[in-house]
Amino acid sequence: MNEIGILKEKATGLSLCKKWNTKPVMGDGPLNARVVFVGEAPGRFEEKEGRPFVGLAGKFLVRELERIGLRREEVYITNVVKCRPPDNRKPKPEEVKECMHLLEEELRLIRPKVIVLLGDTAVKAVLDKSYTIGKNHGQLIRKNGCDFMIMPHPSAAMRFNKMRVIFKADMDVLKELLK
Ligand code: URA
Repeated sequence: MNEIGILKEKATGLSLCKKWNTKPVMGDGPLNARVVFVGEAPGRFEEKEGRPFVGLAGKFLVRELERIGLRREEVYITNVVKCRPPDNRKPKPEEVKECMHLLEEELRLIRPKVIVLLGDTAVKAVLDKSYTIGKNHGQLIRKNGCDFMIMPHPSAAMRFNKMRVIFKADMDVLKELLK
């Protein structure tokens, strides 16, 4: 079992998964990935497959990765919250808090070149409340020795034209950054 497998064992002990009767979904990808993408929480498809971003938003994300020359297999994709919240609602702050140590351990293990925060939940959990998608998307943000980028969540990019334009432009920035 690799280090992520060990984290997954830890995640099965989360009170959220017990309370909601869901299986935890850990991040997925190589431990030497140069980029980590952080979403909000797994949905129905993710819980079923045990992998993050395998539903429609995931397909959109993978298409965009391919457009900038990255394969899903070479990036690490994860979520702030590891258990699927009931009724697809947004995770509450105390639920985010319970899962944060798992994300922190993933990031410590991988130490990627860039950490891409997808959507508001990831931004607020990892950075702080002063950062917003509207104001800070596409910028490289240096904090505690790590480089972060903020982008709209792929679900928002799929649904809203304005968000899609921003998302694609931010992916182009990421492409340049990785050169
Ligand atoms: N949305 C997320 O934030 N994460 C997933 O894994 C799937 C959809």
